[in-house]
Amino acid sequence: MTGSEPLILLVEDEPQMRRFLRVALEGGGYRYLEAPTGQEGLNLAVQHRPDVILLDLGLPDMDGLDLMIRLREWSRIPVIVISARGQESDKVGALDVGADDYLTKPFGTSELLARVRVALRHADPQSAADPIFVLGRWRVDLAKRLVLVDDQEVHLTPLEYKLFTTLIRHAGKVVTQHQLLKEVWGGVAGAQPLYLRVYMAQLRHKLEEEPSRPRHLQTEPGVGYRLKLDD
Ligand code: CA
Repeated sequence: MTGSEPLILLVEDEPQMRRFLRVALEGGGYRYLEAPTGQEGLNLAVQHRPDVILLDLGLPDMDGLDLMIRLREWSRIPVIVISARGQESDKVGALDVGADDYLTKPFGTSELLARVRVALRHADPQSAADPIFVLGRWRVDLAKRLVLVDDQEVHLTPLEYKLFTTLIRHAGKVVTQHQLLKEVWGGVAGAQPLYLRVYMAQLRHKLEEEPSRPRHLQTEPGVGYRLKLDD
C-alpha cells in the first residue's frame, strides 16, 4: 500500500463483525481503523479524518444516532450505518440526521465494497473540514463542543449552541429565518421568527463584545442572519 488508499473507520463493538469487515476492507485495498465504542470512534474520526465511516447503531457506550448527530456538527464524512434487523426505526433516524446509506446485517463482501465505493464517489470535499472554527476572539471546537471567547470557556445552552454552529456551517452566507428554524428547531410546530430573535440576542450577549453592535452575529433585515467573517 502507498498510504493514499481511502481510509475507512469502523465503529462496531462485535469482534466477529470487526474481523469480517477488516478482512473484507483490506481485501478491497482500503486502509482501515476500528473502534469498539462510540467515544473511541469519535476520537479516531477527529484524529484521522477517515474517508468513510461504517457505523454500528448498537454500541455499548452511546447510541449510534447520538454519534451521528455529534459527528455532523463538524463533519460531512460519508457514513454507512450498519444495522441489525429490527432496528428499522433507528436506521431511518440515522438517515434523518445525516447518514448517507445503510447495510442490514448480514451482508456480503461484494455488497459492502459496492456501498463503500458509492460513498467515496459522493464524498464532499468539505468533509475534511477542520473541527476547530476560529474567528476573531472566538475559538470553537466542534468535536468537543467547546466555545471559547478570549480563551475563556463560554457556556451555551443546547439550542444556543445549535443555532451558533448552524451559522458557523454557513459562515459568511445569509441563512434565512426559515432555514434556521428548520435546522435548529427541526420543524417543531410553532417555532417562530420570534424564537430566533430571542436566541440571537442571547448569543450576542454571550459572544459579542458589543451585543448592540454585533461584529459577527448580524441580522439581515427581513431575510435572516449571517455569521459575518472578517474582511
Ligand atoms: Ca453492536
